[in-house]
Amino acid sequence: MSTPVDTTVPPAPLVTIQDVEKSYGHNEVLKGVSLEVNAGEVVGVLGPSGSGKSTLLRCVNHLEDVDRGEIRVDGVLVGYREHRGRLHELRPKEVAARRRDIGMVFQRFNLFGHLTALENVVEAPLRVRRRPRAEARAEAMALLDSVGLAHRADAYPSQLSGGQQQRVAIARALAMKPKVMLFDEPTSALDPELVGEVLGVMRRLADEGMTMIVVTHEIGFAREVCDRVVFMADGVVVEQGPPSQVIDAPQHERTRAFLARMS
Ligand code: ADP
Ligand code: MG
Repeated sequence: MSTPVDTTVPPAPLVTIQDVEKSYGHNEVLKGVSLEVNAGEVVGVLGPSGSGKSTLLRCVNHLEDVDRGEIRVDGVLVGYREHRGRLHELRPKEVAARRRDIGMVFQRFNLFGHLTALENVVEAPLRVRRRPRAEARAEAMALLDSVGLAHRADAYPSQLSGGQQQRVAIARALAMKPKVMLFDEPTSALDPELVGEVLGVMRRLADEGMTMIVVTHEIGFAREVCDRVVFMADGVVVEQGPPSQVIDAPQHERTRAFLARMS
């Protein structure tokens, strides 16, 4: 019997982070971080405060430049334009265009306080994508509905709970149809009773196949929803693997110590 030839092409990672280094002054924050995220994959990033998790997400989202290494989103180099084999720094307009592929949700909800929930969601598609107003509004309503907030479309952020605001923030990020969603401790600022509604929306997104990188201290969410968990400390990836491995049978003492403190 002949060996079957494997003709399947392995999927190219949607996000590739390779040997990334980043310092603030003398503070080396990322010391050679590499991480690949495939399309449809949900990767959880755990680690103590100060380990560089937010900085890593900010580098992916063009909010910081890396000092060394490279990041690609869907094959496209973050921060530079490649032209005839040479790299050119991006102009602000080009950065803005690239960032449209990336949705980011922060710990603080960052909604526009003077706009309603619906206006927050509709704003970028209208202004940036120049979508016809009626279409953009209909899509924004559908998105609000999908996060359970169609009935609060006309409320201002100050009239919404933290959990509701964060769900609007997720809808707003999704309105740009991003290829990947980055979450930076999206439930850390919430009262405990509001955490579940936000994690529920994220869980659904994951089930729908969204590619997600989620910095979180919610170990239960990481275990149940993430395909892979990365443990970072002091600017390096200490270990990564399926949650059953990293969370339930960590190989490294630092991971064990961190998880012991979380439980
Ligand atoms: P984490 O999200 O894991 O808590 P951060 O990426 O926020 O870690 O921070 C890592 C380190 O980088 C910390 O020492 C922090 O003080 C420092 N840092 C983060 N952002 C900046 C900045 N904009 N300027 C200077 N130092 C920063
Ligand atoms: Mg952080």
